[in-house]
Amino acid sequence: MKVRYTYRVRVSRASVRLLEAEWDACRWVWNQCVELDSKSRRASVARPQNGDLDRLLTAWRAEHEWLRACSQNAQQQTIRDFCQARADARAIRKRGGRRGDRRFRSRRRALPTLNFTRSGPFRLRDGRLLLPHGIVLRPVWSRELPSDPSSVRIFRDALGRWHASFVVEREADPLPATGRAVGVDWGVKAVAATTDQQFDLPHTPHRDRAQRALARRQRQMARRRPAPGRAASKGYKAAKRRAAREHAQLKARRQDEARKWAVRLVREFDQIAVEDFKPLFMFGGTLAARAASARTAAARRALEDAAAKHGRELMVVPAAGTTQTCSSCGARAKHHLTLSDRTFECDSCGFVADRDMNAARNVAARAGFDPAGADRVRQGVSLAA
Ligand SMILES: [Zn+2]
Repeated sequence: MKVRYTYRVRVSRASVRLLEAEWDACRWVWNQCVELDSKSRRASVARPQNGDLDRLLTAWRAEHEWLRACSQNAQQQTIRDFCQARADARAIRKRGGRRGDRRFRSRRRALPTLNFTRSGPFRLRDGRLLLPHGIVLRPVWSRELPSDPSSVRIFRDALGRWHASFVVEREADPLPATGRAVGVDWGVKAVAATTDQQFDLPHTPHRDRAQRALARRQRQMARRRPAPGRAASKGYKAAKRRAAREHAQLKARRQDEARKWAVRLVREFDQIAVEDFKPLFMFGGTLAARAASARTAAARRALEDAAAKHGRELMVVPAAGTTQTCSSCGARAKHHLTLSDRTFECDSCGFVADRDMNAARNVAARAGFDPAGADRVRQGVSLAA
């Protein structure tokens, strides 16, 4: 299976200049794509496709020497990226989400990102990464590449650090069967609620603190934002740097937390059913809702990766009605559960369970799994009754 291995890279000042020149060329190609795309939208004609844009690139390169001086491969990949981003946006809109057309990449705001494929050609030699036109990068090899990479993305983050992200083929690493199944519901009270409570992924207060710190920096940035056409102040730049640092830390911790949880889950269960989760409200809603959504997205991604890596069966079931249905008798609740209703009570059979636990059991049942611990819950309830 294909996975990404990402490394920090050390870049000499000369190579930074060359990478930035490549980025300027790719940015120009991207912006041409955006312009052509919106032109055809306004004229109500078919949008240019990958092949059309590739042919245009040949013409642009024949016309402009500075474009010819940069990597054709990176420019072709930019067109591919553009078409992919456009298709993704369309898919989001189809699901009822908000995602506009791709925007221009401005020199000041957009962060460099360059993609090279094997035919680029990029090469690895003596621990160095060699790109076209004599660009030499030194990745910090924090772990070994499992195989020869098929492509690499070079990008700079908001803190000015350069990274290389390789696409490699990795062998699956199957874990011994345990005969256990689990249902996962992306919860309200917890990031993930499962049919076995000890595997829940709770919301953690310290993360909310980090989230608030980030929000504070972002407000500071907004206050100090320069007027159009004016140069940014020192204070604005400082706030921007600090916001970027807070964000990078928050993201790294979120990923780390999600990965550890996912590995714990796949070690214990062969069959994992998850509620389908579409992080649509990431593009709107309150700060808390966006933060919760980002955490859930990270958890789901980590679970998909871990399940694929360790050969576990992962089933994604539609989310509709999992909260409103009784996981004991299957009856639909007559009244609508609001977010503040923490307990599910069945009007038909009298089953009582934690709201998220009830939903997680429904998720497992919909996947056709018999979740471990479900019997224990039922027993607990009948004993209590
Ligand atoms: Zn019931």
